Amino acid sequence: MYNPKSLRAEEFIAHEEVLETLASAEANKENRELIDAIIAKARLRKGLSHREAAVLLDCTLEEKNKEIYALAEQIKKDYYGNRIVMFAPLYLSNYCINGCVYCPYHQKNTHIARKKLTQEEVAREVRALQDMGHKRLAIESGEDPVHSPIEYILECIDTIYGVKHKNGSIRRVNVNIAATTVENYRKLRDAEIGTYILFQETYHKDSYEKLHPTGPKHNYAYHTEAMDRAMEGGIDDVGLGVLFGLEFYRYEFAALLMHAEHLEAAHGVGPHTISVPRIRQADGIDPGAFDNGIDDDTFAKIIACVRIAAPYTGMIVSTRESQDCRERVLHLGVSQISGGSKTSVGGYYEPQPEDENSEQFDVSDKRTLDEIVEWLMKLGYIPSFCTACYREGRTGDRFMSLCKSGNLQNCCHPNALMTLKEYVTDYASASTKTLGEALIGAEIGNIPKDKVRQLVRDNLLRIEQGQRDFRL
Ligand code: SF4
Ligand code: SF4
Repeated sequence: MYNPKSLRAEEFIAHEEVLETLASAEANKENRELIDAIIAKARLRKGLSHREAAVLLDCTLEEKNKEIYALAEQIKKDYYGNRIVMFAPLYLSNYCINGCVYCPYHQKNTHIARKKLTQEEVAREVRALQDMGHKRLAIESGEDPVHSPIEYILECIDTIYGVKHKNGSIRRVNVNIAATTVENYRKLRDAEIGTYILFQETYHKDSYEKLHPTGPKHNYAYHTEAMDRAMEGGIDDVGLGVLFGLEFYRYEFAALLMHAEHLEAAHGVGPHTISVPRIRQADGIDPGAFDNGIDDDTFAKIIACVRIAAPYTGMIVSTRESQDCRERVLHLGVSQISGGSKTSVGGYYEPQPEDENSEQFDVSDKRTLDEIVEWLMKLGYIPSFCTACYREGRTGDRFMSLCKSGNLQNCCHPNALMTLKEYVTDYASASTKTLGEALIGAEIGNIPKDKVRQLVRDNLLRIEQGQRDFRL
């Protein structure tokens, strides 16, 4: 029944296979010999199967867990260095015909303010995001064929890419909209999106159907097979994620990795990113009502085990998580974070009035982008505003082969420095600018090739003289 190459959800996320994985992980959680063998395999940096990774997630041996965390940290350093890529979500519309019980945008919620941005409002939001310094957005919209059909989404993408405000521009638009048809995915590809992101919410079919009682999203197979249709439509950068808290986390973890294995087996390219959101407080939504919530220790263990199991896959942690929690997990494998985020429709241009709540969830980390950039640098990270890959045609298997060979670092690090230079020149506060200039100066010496180092030095000067958008 279980077949990672199959295009049928029930075969590539076979329930029995997940259950057997969990049983084997439980049986082996103190099996030192097996755990040593799995860690040794993980050290080869070629990833782990869902069965192997599930054993590490369950492992209760303290000294082995220390090795797991140390290895995750090392893999993060080897593939992502000390860079953290920045992005922000942009909510376009919260009209939705689905009934997701954990989301305040569900159709039956009559007290949330419903809003859909006009193109002028989209442009206003984008100018506000550019004024913060953002270059990479993830657009979000509820599912509604009347209020937000694909034509509306495409028009918004066009508007976003078209706004050139002062020195700002949005250079990569990732898209997080409902599962759709191959034809619509083709249109998104033609609109030059970055990554298509769709959270599975939960891989457990029975729970999924209960949590999505009404609307098109109720169809588990259609939702779970969305990435296959996206790939058929020519989108080769896709982002997976589950909403931790809805189901038993071990189930979600194993199935998430099975989904990643399926994409690799069926399409030759794994997911570009994996997101690990946890359920949050929102209008009418109490996270306590979902009894599968995970604590910070478990959250950190999940991140470390995903990092080890899928070394080439970016990992995203959003402002759903607090500053403390983000600080705790960044070094374990996170490669992208959001900053200065608003989860309401139209919230960047003007603060949401108190009596008009249109937020999807409460943001935990409420700091400004500048505060987050400064914080990252104080922790020893390079905040990066790089968007180079898809603009240079490095997507899908081309991206993956560069990543697997370790050569992508030769682009990421210089690009991080050049885009940080743009940020500190155009948007940073005085203290962030001082820190940023010092960091860039120190990091240039870490570029190994003389030619590239010189090119970056030249480009940094050009940025000071007013030119923008250098990339490798
Ligand atoms: S999670 Fe998405 S599909 Fe479900 S109600 Fe919220 S916006 Fe709609
Ligand atoms: S070079 Fe590519 S992989 Fe590296 S940070 Fe830029 S966009 Fe991401």
